[in-house]
Amino acid sequence: NWDARLQIRSRDEIGMLGDSINDLAASLQRYRDTRRAFFSTISHELRTPVTYLQGYAKVLKDGLVDSDKEKKQYLSIIYQESVRLEHLISDLFDLSKMEEGQLKLSMEWLDLKEIVQTAVQKVKLKAENKRLSLQTDLHDSIPLIRGDHKRMEQVLLNLLENAIQYTEKGNVVVQLVKQKEATVLSVSDTGIGIPEDELPYIFERFYRVEKSRAREYGGTGLGLSIVKKYVDMQGGTVQVDSEMGKGTTFRLIFSHETKQGKDGMKS
Ligand code: ADP
Repeated sequence: NWDARLQIRSRDEIGMLGDSINDLAASLQRYRDTRRAFFSTISHELRTPVTYLQGYAKVLKDGLVDSDKEKKQYLSIIYQESVRLEHLISDLFDLSKMEEGQLKLSMEWLDLKEIVQTAVQKVKLKAENKRLSLQTDLHDSIPLIRGDHKRMEQVLLNLLENAIQYTEKGNVVVQLVKQKEATVLSVSDTGIGIPEDELPYIFERFYRVEKSRAREYGGTGLGLSIVKKYVDMQGGTVQVDSEMGKGTTFRLIFSHETKQGKDGMKS
């Protein structure tokens, strides 16, 4: 433990200097705590899939599995775990770029409906495996919006994967509606919900709701921080409503702006 706080009581410039040094010391301490949490989460999250990969690959390699059914099962675990690793690595990559302010979006006019359909297709199997119903309600004549195709899909995938992960029964619904002033894209689930007092923090990097729940579900606490950052960068806002034991809805709101205003923001 480390404490560099100064005990200066004077009210003059020296006192003020003491205060700013103390503020700096406090933020340095916060930074160190976050960094420690970061490394411990990352090492854990990297080790878990690698352990599975090694274990199952070894059993197969050593010819210890006879039945084709079992072989298939093991291969499918190996595949899933490698996908998980890939996600983690790409999240970390984006995160480090964000930190350096190096993350550049490539902006174009996007058809949200098409992006939703692609993302839904990608998570369909995950939902089926949990016997969740995955539905879409996509309205027609949704205006094109300016955004980065790959990043927008990533945002949706993160929200959909969370919705599926944190829902035990019921459904996940993606809705795309054009309102008077904005296009609203929402992902709702009938899952476990998020405690009200934790809602303000879920978009923070590495924040995970309730330690016990976090251990049970696995994850890094990066998904939503990436969602928020990408949506901000694309000129939208994110809202969340949740009720414990009932479900959660995330809303992405992209206001209809004049083309001029939009292009102005992106320059
Ligand atoms: P994680 O990798 O832990 O899922 P996220 O940043 O994606 O990280 O989410 C942060 C936390 O918010 C999660 O740990 C989870 O507890 C909670 N959360 C996110 N989405 C949902 C949801 N749809 N339903 C319930 N809880 C959620």
